[in-house]
Amino acid sequence: MASVSFRGVEKNFGRFKVIHGISFDIADGEFVVLVGPSGCGKSTLLRMLAGLEPISGGEIDIDRRVVNDVDSKDRDIAMVFQSYALYPHMTVRDNMGFSLRLRKADTSMTAQRVDDAARILNLTQLLDRYPRELSGGQRQRVAMGRAIVRDPKVFLFDEPLSNLDAKLRVAMRAEIKALHQRLKTTTVYVTHDQIEAMTMADRIVVMHDGIVEQIGTPLELFDRPGNLFVAQFIGSPA
Ligand code: ADP
Ligand code: MG
Repeated sequence: MASVSFRGVEKNFGRFKVIHGISFDIADGEFVVLVGPSGCGKSTLLRMLAGLEPISGGEIDIDRRVVNDVDSKDRDIAMVFQSYALYPHMTVRDNMGFSLRLRKADTSMTAQRVDDAARILNLTQLLDRYPRELSGGQRQRVAMGRAIVRDPKVFLFDEPLSNLDAKLRVAMRAEIKALHQRLKTTTVYVTHDQIEAMTMADRIVVMHDGIVEQIGTPLELFDRPGNLFVAQFIGSPA
């Protein structure tokens, strides 16, 4: 687990400023959802935290250490994307163990971690299958499995459910929450879906055009939206 802090974080793409000095803190073990309309900067903020995108100004801390110059692979963070990004020519087992093998982890430890993750995610029966033999929900669970075998300090999710149909989406929300209850890993979860945010978050960060409009628990945002944008965004149907 870890705490995360954004302090005056900025991002420019060329002359175009997309993140305008964002500051907030995430507590150890918290499940925080970044929500806002498409293009508001959610993925960019997440990618800067993961070290996949350099930051243009300000500072990001993980466990009170500035990580601005820390390479992505040294940040102890695992990210789950919308596109499952599984390796098509590898079995579920090999997909899940890949990042550990890449880090030269011991073979028997890798096998143990993969088995444990498979049990948690109900993938034990599927370990010898290939991605093409799985349903969308199963593939998404494998993508989560790949993240949890590394036992990272922070999980990042970028719209992980947006390729799934509505019914499966609801089921997977519950699975991700159950996983968090169990592992208590600090989580930053990005979605443009305010219902998803309201049902999953300990706290919600509402973003709009590269700024934070409001931060609060789902109940706080629902009861006391800070401005018209938040009121309309939270109140609008999915
Ligand atoms: P969100 O995830 O909330 O939909 P993004 O973080 O992807 O938003 O994008 C925020 C803004 O940054 C958008 O205007 C987008 O067009 C722009 N942007 C994102 N990535 C790049 C890039 N690599 N180069 C230029 N502009 C980008
Ligand atoms: Mg995005």
